[in-house]
Amino acid sequence: MEKIVSLCKRRGFIFQSSEIYGGLAAVWDYGPLGAQLKKNVKDAWWRSVVLDRDDVEGLDAGILMHPKVWEASGHISNFFDEWIDCKKCQERFRTDEPSYATKKQCPKCGGKELTEPRKFNLMLKTHLGPVEDTASVVYLRPETAQGIFVNFINVLDSRHKRLPFGIAQIGKAYRNEITPKNFTFRSREFEQMEMEFFVKPGEDEMWHKTWIEERFNWYIKLGINKDNLHIREHEKTELAHYAKACSDIEYNFPFGWSELEGIANRQDFDLKQHQQFSGKDLTYFDSQTNTHYIPFVIEPSGGCDRATLAFLVDAYHEDIVNDKTRVYLKFHKDIAPVKVAVLPLLKNRPEVVEIAKNIQKSLRKKFVCVYDDSAAIGKLYRRQDEIGTLFCVTVDVQSLEDKKVTVRERDTMQQERIDIEKLEEYLLEKLQ
Ligand code: ATP
Repeated sequence: MEKIVSLCKRRGFIFQSSEIYGGLAAVWDYGPLGAQLKKNVKDAWWRSVVLDRDDVEGLDAGILMHPKVWEASGHISNFFDEWIDCKKCQERFRTDEPSYATKKQCPKCGGKELTEPRKFNLMLKTHLGPVEDTASVVYLRPETAQGIFVNFINVLDSRHKRLPFGIAQIGKAYRNEITPKNFTFRSREFEQMEMEFFVKPGEDEMWHKTWIEERFNWYIKLGINKDNLHIREHEKTELAHYAKACSDIEYNFPFGWSELEGIANRQDFDLKQHQQFSGKDLTYFDSQTNTHYIPFVIEPSGGCDRATLAFLVDAYHEDIVNDKTRVYLKFHKDIAPVKVAVLPLLKNRPEVVEIAKNIQKSLRKKFVCVYDDSAAIGKLYRRQDEIGTLFCVTVDVQSLEDKKVTVRERDTMQQERIDIEKLEEYLLEKLQ
């Protein structure tokens, strides 16, 4: 993990928030490459869950919502974490830490002198308007899902949907985590990628299975090593009060197997609650059976930051080249923040630089393509490997005569001479 954290800072993927002021705990800023990487993760999710399907619509709801939403959803009464302090080593931990849950001991020192469990609501509060009284309290949403439930009828009516169909959104969520840790894994500000898939009651178990498979395969398709991914079905005792069943997709992080995404069968809990609290009819009219009912919901709920971290960890590779360690990020082509780098071999030859710059200008219209002449070629290759760039295109003096460039592939480091004229076609074929 230390290697990943240091690479993220060194190469501009992820920085500590407000670092020059000493940092703000559990909030992270994505740097130039991290922002592009995270965008690629979100785009791949949006493509797979929304654009490539006929049965899912997109949504972008506000972060601030009517406070009643959180009463209806149960967050005001139930969204608590319980924590304990160890009197011996002062470690603070959640009561669901395995060593406490099973042996009632501190996960750090094994001590058994512990404080009583204390409860803490994870929602962040603020006020709307100039007066800070109880009537003006609003919450920063702790999940994006409720924005979907309150828009169920709006989407149903405006898009003339029939069951089964889903509504998906990507957006920020906030939780006042007590024990943030493991880099971006547990942050206080993070992004979720959530989808509520509304189905006819009775078809819920089939759709639950379908979405578990669908979501598991998404990570594999984008290059995550299958051995580092598994599905963990929740025990009945672990299930949230609204869930009939839930399975987590877990990744084998350096700090252990941990949740990337949960896929829950939430039954009709949320819509029923919102119907009761809002007094609005949130039923679906089934024209085949001529009945009104509240649909059941299957919810794949993933964390964008956790997925991004898993892609980073999984991509991290080291090999030995000429007795030196080469670090490279073996990102899938859809995830890699930079697809191609154009590097002139001799920056003091204006003709070479001109060709290189023209190539970059033309390629950047098709994909993320950068130009770099700020170091010697060996160093430039190393930099590009470390950020996972798929191809390096080198322009040299020979290029002036044969109108060819050298294309180097990241993983194999194999080099090929390609006609400048055919370069775009060659790269497009590889990147498709
Ligand atoms: P955990 O048990 O790890 O706290 P959770 O079960 O409370 O997670 P959910 O409420 O199911 O998480 O949220 C859905 C997804 O949002 C999670 O699978 C995770 O990817 C992401 N997520 C939740 N909390 C955080 C956080 N503090 N930082 C980053 N991502 C988070």
